[in-house]
Amino acid sequence: MLDSLGNLRRTHYCGDLRAAHADADVVLMGWVHRRRDLGNLIFIDLRDRAGIAQVVFNKEQHAAAHAKAEELRAEYVVAVEGRVVHRQKANPEIATGEVEVVAMRLHILNTAKTPPFVIEDEVLASEETRLRYRYLDLRRPKPRANIALRHRVIFEMRKALDALGFYEIETPMLTRSTPEGARDYLVPSRIHHGQFYALPQSPQIFKQILMIAGMDRYFQIVRCFRDEDFRADRQAEFTQLDLEMSFPRQDDIFGVIEQVMARACAVIGVEVKLPFPRMTHAQALARYGGDKPDLRFGMELQDVSGFFTQAARETLHIEGSVQALAVPGVATFSRKQLDELAERAKSFGARGLYAVKVAAEGISSPLEKTLGAETLKKLVASAGAKPGELVVAVAAKEQVKGSDAAALVAGQLRLHLAEQLKLIPKDRWEFVWLTGFPLFEWSETENRLVSAQHPFTGIVEEDVEKLEDPSDDVRATIRSKGYDLVLNGVELGSGSIRIHRQDVQARVFRALGLTDEQARQRFGFFLDALAYGTPPHGGIALGLDRVVALLAGEKSIREVIAFSKTTAAQDLMADTPSPVDADQLDELGIALKPPERR
Ligand code: ASP
Repeated sequence: MLDSLGNLRRTHYCGDLRAAHADADVVLMGWVHRRRDLGNLIFIDLRDRAGIAQVVFNKEQHAAAHAKAEELRAEYVVAVEGRVVHRQKANPEIATGEVEVVAMRLHILNTAKTPPFVIEDEVLASEETRLRYRYLDLRRPKPRANIALRHRVIFEMRKALDALGFYEIETPMLTRSTPEGARDYLVPSRIHHGQFYALPQSPQIFKQILMIAGMDRYFQIVRCFRDEDFRADRQAEFTQLDLEMSFPRQDDIFGVIEQVMARACAVIGVEVKLPFPRMTHAQALARYGGDKPDLRFGMELQDVSGFFTQAARETLHIEGSVQALAVPGVATFSRKQLDELAERAKSFGARGLYAVKVAAEGISSPLEKTLGAETLKKLVASAGAKPGELVVAVAAKEQVKGSDAAALVAGQLRLHLAEQLKLIPKDRWEFVWLTGFPLFEWSETENRLVSAQHPFTGIVEEDVEKLEDPSDDVRATIRSKGYDLVLNGVELGSGSIRIHRQDVQARVFRALGLTDEQARQRFGFFLDALAYGTPPHGGIALGLDRVVALLAGEKSIREVIAFSKTTAAQDLMADTPSPVDADQLDELGIALKPPERR
């Protein structure tokens, strides 16, 4: 027989009990984490959101409660009335370890089936099982702490933005397509057969319209939907901290985000240095070999192309730039280790890897034959290598239009080596703003220039005239007013000062290959709105799941989302997506194609 909650009222969370509560009469409610039966004494670890408390049932003192405790099994839900006492032997492993609760009465509120895995941080269950039983998974300490952290971070962000005069405004979920580079999730209309809503990839157009509407400062913690092919650590639906402000300089937007991120980091006790450093996209590529530089460690790239004469290039069969890295502590790498490294470099797109060992006695490298001892010495000096270091130089196998392919390879090699050699300090929080992005980038698949970010990104004034230039090469040099925020080598988000003139926006659509008619059909309402007194404006969106994952020390954003989906966009617990009734399809005016025609 189960007991009812009746008039019982919880007095404390299990996890909150401390020595100061000794002698207090308490009522605890929670789940049976573990039961140990020693005959006359039964111990249970009682768990709730705040943690675990030890409860002891003593046959001699409280026979009825003790008898009932014999029925308890893992994950039963109980209420315990008892008294807090000091433990004879404290358990320093848990926060409540100095005390225990002597149970006087036990109420069994519910039973539970045996869970498919134990509720502990070291679970052996597969991720699939954990996702299927997410309600059990969330009872584990780490996921529970992650959800609590997420709440705290969002709450602090809201407070920071409220203090800065931002309004939190909701934008529609049933809307039309916004181009952020992915496919839309479509929702069929029942009332308007043959017509569809799109779930927002971002509130981009609406937030810009809010600026036209005079709201001045907007933010939203908003769900966004992008239907992408399998991509590691992407979610079909994810959350952004989205914001927009009117009449801003770039510095104003950076300042707002710096405040917000400082408050978010303070939640885990991390004090960040403000303002965040800045770097152009070109500098990031040249120094770190990518547009998401991890500044927690050095090992910057050095362009050593100048040491390779035409003759040397022919001998080595290399083209394009040659990039070098000085790697600390590994001048002792064996032949085998160097071969492995070369293989790795090739997998990143290197033509080959040239290693130079720098020792106190001198330098040695197979490159010496081609470059000569003097040039090699100069190369080592220019790479800034000290004795004990290994200089590795790479050239790319294939050149990339509009980018330095060797730098991209060296950038990957830099990260690989830093991970392998454990050179990345875990307790550093290195933010950096990236600016100076091109407006367009070359798309190999479409064989034309596409927006590097989205088509609403502002343009550096002097470059606006290049929009109509017939040459792709010239249009590829148009500079945007976009920026990215990167933390520890992870892109947190991007934003820009926007285009606020209707004529310029229309010219960008044309430059992207849209006819005026197509632009009107897709963005007509927005082009119309732009004509009614649009203030200069700009904003940014940060991936909130990513921010929380970094703060929680989790590799995957799935660990900080209460109900996440698999990379195949399935919810294993709710079994989504799922077929629907024929009636439902009928109402929508939809007939499914037979499988062979899909
Ligand atoms: N809408 C952009 C995005 O979702 C961010 C922005 O430009 O504010 O990436």
